[in-house]
Amino acid sequence: MAGAGSAEERLNRTVGLIADGLKADVCSCYVLRAGEVLELFATKGLLASAVHATRLRVGEGLVGLIAAQAKPLAFADAQNHPAFVYRPETGEDIYHSLMGVPILRGGRMMGVLVVQNKTQRNYSEEEIEILETVAMVLAELVAGGLVPRDEQLSYDGNALLPLRFEGIRLNAGIAIGHAVVHRSHVSVQRLVAEDSEAELARFKEALAGLHNQLDALLNSADMAQGGEHRDVLETYRMFAQDAGWIGRIVEAIQGGLTAEAAVQKVHDDTRARMSQVSDPYLRERLLDFEDLANRLIQHLAGKASGPLDLPDDTILFARTLGPAELLDYDRKKLKGLVLEEGSPTMHVAIIARALDIPVIGRVPEILSRVEPMDPVVVDGDTNQVFLRPGEDILSAFRANLALRVQRLAAYAAERDLPAVTKDGEAVGLFVNAGLLADLQYLESSGAQGVGLYRTEIPFMARPELPDVEAQTQIYGKIFELAAGRPVVFRTLDVGGDKVLPYWNGASEENPAMGWRSIRITLDRPAVLRQQLRALIRAAEGRELSVMFPMVAEVFELDKAREILGMEIAREASLGHPKPKRVRVGTMLEVPALAFQIEALLKRVDFISVGSNDLVQFLFASDRGNPRLSDRYDTLAPAVLTFLKRLVDACKDRNVSLSLCGEMGGQPVDAMALIGIGFRNLSMHVPSIGPVRRMIRSLELGPLEAFMSGLLDRPDRSLRLRLKAYARDHGVDIG
Ligand code: PEP
Ligand code: MG
Repeated sequence: MAGAGSAEERLNRTVGLIADGLKADVCSCYVLRAGEVLELFATKGLLASAVHATRLRVGEGLVGLIAAQAKPLAFADAQNHPAFVYRPETGEDIYHSLMGVPILRGGRMMGVLVVQNKTQRNYSEEEIEILETVAMVLAELVAGGLVPRDEQLSYDGNALLPLRFEGIRLNAGIAIGHAVVHRSHVSVQRLVAEDSEAELARFKEALAGLHNQLDALLNSADMAQGGEHRDVLETYRMFAQDAGWIGRIVEAIQGGLTAEAAVQKVHDDTRARMSQVSDPYLRERLLDFEDLANRLIQHLAGKASGPLDLPDDTILFARTLGPAELLDYDRKKLKGLVLEEGSPTMHVAIIARALDIPVIGRVPEILSRVEPMDPVVVDGDTNQVFLRPGEDILSAFRANLALRVQRLAAYAAERDLPAVTKDGEAVGLFVNAGLLADLQYLESSGAQGVGLYRTEIPFMARPELPDVEAQTQIYGKIFELAAGRPVVFRTLDVGGDKVLPYWNGASEENPAMGWRSIRITLDRPAVLRQQLRALIRAAEGRELSVMFPMVAEVFELDKAREILGMEIAREASLGHPKPKRVRVGTMLEVPALAFQIEALLKRVDFISVGSNDLVQFLFASDRGNPRLSDRYDTLAPAVLTFLKRLVDACKDRNVSLSLCGEMGGQPVDAMALIGIGFRNLSMHVPSIGPVRRMIRSLELGPLEAFMSGLLDRPDRSLRLRLKAYARDHGVDIG
């Protein structure tokens, strides 16, 4: 029983207060329990006997729909909504309107908070925001031990119930389709061979077959254009030729095993080693070997994969997947991918991004729950997978998908419209890129150029440090694809979470604040020199913009500039063409650098704010820690005040300033940035359309006046005020 002051008591008091505050007849809190069930935990207004008795599956009814979509919903006439389900035990038949918001914590769904009214009430956006704010507070209460999460509830128990899973996002987007379960494993029947020579011959034949198959993949039409997925496959082919791996298999055959058993043995040894390796990058490379072993066994069994009979809307499920395995599937039919393992840097994720399909990884035990041809929804935006969803969820996601397609078409139609505010102020929109594939959308987005090209991405997709020639080719391709638009090349920004397979640095206590980025390249100047040389060569007489990352003090910038000067002189002495002009810039992502602003401004042509890192350092709050993800906001007064000072200093000295962190791509954040004086923003391609639309609906004058009084407020975040401003002034923030 809930005692005075217990979490449940507080919850009861809170729902009462919310109902009063929002003038609602009902306020109820549903909490997500094990078994994907939303249980009524507290209510003001519904029958008290329904508490702990009313349960809805995620996706069931309007409450379930809010949980499934992790989005707020409001209906003046809820009872006539197709998803409405009536629960007589609640006595809710007299309430007509309903507004609900998900209770989220660190991106995880914890439950749903709902208000209802007897009248057909139209809830305002402001009321939704208030409810969302309260839900944020409630999330702490729910997380703080209100529910024993591991307690299993028996809920109409049959194994084929709709199920919802959470994982981590390896690529965003939404896909609806049918499950295909990837089975690579062929069991080995015969273990011991009498004729080792014959087994060796079989092995060699199968290996040749495997090499041919990989070559055929590499030569296929869509690989011929190059790009990272080609790099990844080439790495993979290199593994297939790895003398150590082949040698171990041959040795096992010579020891008396059949070819299959030998491959299996080496495979098992690899797995055993893998379980002891903690370095995630190495683990992924070992997974490539595992994939190869599976393929080889298939070749030996005479089952080299022919074309599979796939549904047109295949959602592929696998424990993990090698890059070549993914490419075995018909790309036109592949709509989504769900993995039990996986990390954002794994090769298959890089390929999936280039193919533009949503991917969710680290979904525990999904393979034991999915059945072939199950209907599936993959929501790469909220990191959820729905198995066998009900018609209500399916139709909600179908509508969402159709809306996306419509919106994309509308944004594409607007691509040539200038990004100018209603009162005539132009804002430069640029894209962030790292994959060659990102560049292919440059034209269709209508962006002015590349504001941030992350050079480390091709480094991460390769088996070894690319030499000057390989780098020159990559950068040359970028220049070519940019077709005369400016590109800002950021020098190697590795370390932290971006690990290179061939630089096995010691693990660090605090990698984000560790030996990373320019700290590495200044300590290993040969790497920086080679990269700068390749950039100068690739520019071939064109303008070159170089940007140094993670600069913490002017001294570091001077050092880097010195190396750049040396390389320019060296190339000239070799008779190579000089770039038409070299523009030098720095990222501003370490707060200390802003305290040397005067000296800095004398040394750079441009500055780009890396808000992802800057905000984590301003608040001393790890950007990758889910427990902290909601704690500090990019629109906190401290962040905007810091940035405003920077804007003013750059304006005084005529130094070009932009921002290339994630916040630049969020319409509300972008509006605030423009309001404090930013005139250039760089973002990932899909954000260009929404941000352009926001700018075109904005009148800058009144916003500037509004914001000048805002930054001194003691609020934790100015987001709600800025959203309200946008709503009241017709600014389209999506
Ligand atoms: C940033 O820190 O905001 C940034 C753009 O760099 P990255 O996300 O690559 O660290
Ligand atoms: Mg950064």
